[in-house]
Amino acid sequence: MTELWQLSAAGLADQVRRGSVSARDVVRASLDRIERVDPALHAFVDHRGERALADADAIDGARARGEPLGPLAGVPIGWKDNLVVAGERTSAGSRMLADYRSPFTATALQRLQAAGAVLLGRTNMDEFGMGSSTETSAHGPTRNPWHRDCVPGGSSGGSAAAVAAGLCPLAVGSDTGGSVRQPAALCGVFGLKPTYGRVSRYGLIAYASSLDCVGVLGRSVDDLALWLAATAGVDPADPTSVAAAPTTGAAAPAADLRGVRIGVPWQLNGPGLDDEVLATVQTALATLRELGAELVECSLPSVAHAVPTYYLLAMAEAASNLARYDGVRYGARRGEGTSCDAMTTASRSRGFGDEVQLRILLGTFALSVGYQDRYYGQAIRARELLRSDFARAFAACDLLVSPTSPVPAFPLGSRIDDPLAMYLCDALTVPASLAGLPALSQPCGYTAAGLPIGLQWTAPAFGEDRLLQVAGAFAAATDHHSRRPPA
Ligand code: GLN
Repeated sequence: MTELWQLSAAGLADQVRRGSVSARDVVRASLDRIERVDPALHAFVDHRGERALADADAIDGARARGEPLGPLAGVPIGWKDNLVVAGERTSAGSRMLADYRSPFTATALQRLQAAGAVLLGRTNMDEFGMGSSTETSAHGPTRNPWHRDCVPGGSSGGSAAAVAAGLCPLAVGSDTGGSVRQPAALCGVFGLKPTYGRVSRYGLIAYASSLDCVGVLGRSVDDLALWLAATAGVDPADPTSVAAAPTTGAAAPAADLRGVRIGVPWQLNGPGLDDEVLATVQTALATLRELGAELVECSLPSVAHAVPTYYLLAMAEAASNLARYDGVRYGARRGEGTSCDAMTTASRSRGFGDEVQLRILLGTFALSVGYQDRYYGQAIRARELLRSDFARAFAACDLLVSPTSPVPAFPLGSRIDDPLAMYLCDALTVPASLAGLPALSQPCGYTAAGLPIGLQWTAPAFGEDRLLQVAGAFAAATDHHSRRPPA
């Protein structure tokens, strides 16, 4: 028998609306599953328990009164610990914000609640989003549901593990350089990073503001589409949000891919890839061809500079964004009663973990007098070159395809002391981030050891519907996404 925790968000909302199940039972099922499975995974930092059940009761009450219910009625949703909820804790995976409570709720979460979703709990993440393994979290690491000695990816590793393990059908994440897509790939679920500005960042704790996007992880394309329809759109509280034409939401998946021109940039489809990743993606390309797609060889020459460009910009912006955590305006205060300098130093050196401190130092250096043009300015120029590479590629094709991550999930501890090895995990995801483009990761196969492999789609700005349609067509023709990790 199919249990409630196995259902999709669309399926659950449908049942809640029809009254064949109560929102309370749906939320209870998620809470039970968390209690049973999460101690071994640590996908959630905490959950709202009784408060989530009370929210579910409000939905059941509305239904009893005959009020119309939203498209996500009763759907329990996890959210990354860097999106704020009024009156509740948000730590961004950092000791610095261990006791922080926000006075307001992030727009994306508010819109999900307005669509009927129930906020279930906060998911684990790399500190301030800085990492690709969820190992830099002050709350300790999350484990990969497919292999518990492996990382779930990061920085939205808690959201990915939660969705993969059936703790909730959808979880919100954030993606600055790949933090939704890479963990989605490593945990065998779908992950969507919308176009920069499509979903409001109001209430998302800033990492690198010119790159930060709110995204989502789920187990089906339809669920991603529901999420996007509920959250997208302009928000007066986020001046970078864009009033793009509303998404059609649950875009019907294309029945086949005839007439679709899929670009295969060679720089993202060969060099430096793990053998099993390469072979699996080659098989996926053959499937796309069988579905009628036209595969077009293409080139993104500036991708060669994408990783250093991304890290320069991300670290410079992070150094500036994180300056507010001084123990006075924001952040846990340490060294009280000493001098102002000593107190700031104590607060920052004890509040931030090693990776965050490393990035603040490098980012500050890149912005310092005399070096600004050499590093930051150069990175801005490289970003422009990459944007024009994408524009050129999209003149000849509708979407681009590549693996999401060069490697499958790796053992916990194996890269954490080697920042460069960790940064290379982002080689295939940072190009779309730098260009502000929408991108989606979907399961496309497994290694011999049973670890998931992800396929990444990138579309022109505001091409989310196209991404969802093509991903839907590939999913309908294959069954990689229906495999579940050991219970
Ligand atoms: N792994 C990348 C980083 O550490 C991307 C993180 C993200 O998208 N938040 O910056």
